[in-house]
Order: sequence, then C-alpha cells, then structure tokens
Amino acid sequence: MAKKIKLDDKTQAFQKLVEDLCGQNTAKCDQCGTCSGGCPFVEDMDITPAELMRKVMLGQEDVLESETMWICATCNTCTVRCPRKLDVSKIAEALRQIRLRNEIDQLDIGKISREEIKELPQIALIAALRKLSS
Ligand code: SF4
Ligand code: SF4
Repeated sequence: MAKKIKLDDKTQAFQKLVEDLCGQNTAKCDQCGTCSGGCPFVEDMDITPAELMRKVMLGQEDVLESETMWICATCNTCTVRCPRKLDVSKIAEALRQIRLRNEIDQLDIGKISREEIKELPQIALIAALRKLSS
C-alpha cells in the first residue's frame, strides 16, 4: 500500500519556493528515471536528474550543494521524454536562482587568467557569467 509522506513546515517551504520559481508540480514525479536514462550529461553529474527531482519533492535543501543543476545544459531531452510532462531543466534553473540569490556564485571571473579570457570565446564567457554568477 502506498504511504503518504508528510513534510514539515521547513521542508514544505523549500519545496514550495522551488515550485513557485519554476512553475512545476514536483509531486507529479513518479521516479521512473526516464530523465536520468536519457540525459546526455548524467555521467558528469553527482546526482542524477531523477535524484534531483526526489530531493526537491522531499524538500531536501542539500540539493543546493549538488553540481547537477550547474551541469544541466537545458537541452530538454528529459522534458520531451518525461511521462509526467515535468521540465527538470526548469527545476534546475530554480535551484540555481536560489543559490545565486544567496550571492553564492559558481563562477568567479577574478579567478580566470587574462590569457584564458583572451582564448575563450566571448559568447561562452558571457553565457557562463549569466548562468553561473549573481
Ligand atoms: S522522467 Fe519525469 S516522472 Fe520520471 S523521474 Fe524524471 S521527472 Fe520524474
Ligand atoms: S535538460 Fe538538463 S537534466 Fe534534462 S536531459 Fe538536458 S542536461 Fe539532462
């Protein structure tokens, strides 16, 4: 028989914050793993997209420490395959927003050498700054 899990106020608040930012109902996820199976970047992630979904569903704030949300390339493979029509990339984006709003940058431009800045494509630098810094 299916068991209902009741979240306490703090975990509920975290789950709601993520859902408010991304407009997704994470409770719809049935943990089928299709998103993880098709993700082209799953090998580089520390937790799979399905694990990320589970952590958000359970209001586990330690998901904010995961690298997965930064590695997600918003390719939408998972979105088109998800049987529950969930958009994992939007959830990853919401998690990034929460981190960046706390002014915890993932990229410190000051740590990139002048030589690297000259070598790197400008568009990649701008895109990385937009995605990874507050
Ligand atoms: S494919 Fe959809 S329903 Fe399945 S685990 Fe991923 S997000 Fe959940
Ligand atoms: S949108 Fe992100 S999580 Fe989904 S398949 Fe692409 S890289 Fe993986």
